[in-house]
Amino acid sequence: MLSGLSDLYQSRTAKAAIGFGSFARSSNCVCTLEVSRVGDPTRAVRSRSKRQVTAGEKVAEGLEEEALAIEVAAEEAWAAAAALDEAKAEYDQLNEGSAISGRLVKIYNELLVAENIEKQLYWNGQLVGPHLWRLFQRYAVIFATLKEKGIGLSFSPESLDNIIGKFSPAFAALAAIAPLMRATRLLTPAELDHLETNCAALGATWREHFAAAHGGEHTPKVHLIERHVVEQARRHGTLGMFGEEAVEAEHPAWARAAQLCRAIKNPRARLLATKRHSER
Ligand SMILES: [Zn+2]
Repeated sequence: MLSGLSDLYQSRTAKAAIGFGSFARSSNCVCTLEVSRVGDPTRAVRSRSKRQVTAGEKVAEGLEEEALAIEVAAEEAWAAAAALDEAKAEYDQLNEGSAISGRLVKIYNELLVAENIEKQLYWNGQLVGPHLWRLFQRYAVIFATLKEKGIGLSFSPESLDNIIGKFSPAFAALAAIAPLMRATRLLTPAELDHLETNCAALGATWREHFAAAHGGEHTPKVHLIERHVVEQARRHGTLGMFGEEAVEAEHPAWARAAQLCRAIKNPRARLLATKRHSER
């Protein structure tokens, strides 16, 4: 799961960084290095002679650029969701892989269900958002109940406090960050400051509690939150207006259109026809 997400993330990171060309150049960070290694994927197309670039290709390139721009615009919100995905996975790993009994995991899973936070939907992707946001909002209650029930099963309060103490600061920071990243409006100066404080807090707690699990470095997702979310938010005054959720909502329409057009053999014609159908 983690490596799959990581692969997906890497490709998105490269595209995002290319999309934000000036942003990548201005940042002395991992992202910049990744871009220079990846190179410019449009170079092969540009270096062809003019005769080779047909009108159809130009249209297809335009569509691709349009699609890429939409995708790029949603990167930060996606990164936040993915970072929580990792937090949750680490939580599971800690519980399942250490001395902490599976009984505690069972209780935790039951508490998630009770809070209408569905793991299956979560792992499979499409309905990630609402379940993540609920987890952010309810983590303190979930942890408090977890501790209570764990003590009831004769776990030591200290071991429970250790677990909760490890994860709570990350959840607290993400709970503060998420609504500000999703708000489809301009943020106030106070909100931008609050965002900055919590992005830094997430980076700090991740470094303290989780960095070792990733070879001492932040994962790219956490790096994005620590280093680039605030930068982008301050530059544009908003992140939520670039959010991915509207695009996600279009997926069913696009999938239906793609199904109608799947028999078209020529890929460019298929893409154009799918676009036309999805716009109906
Ligand atoms: Zn970076």
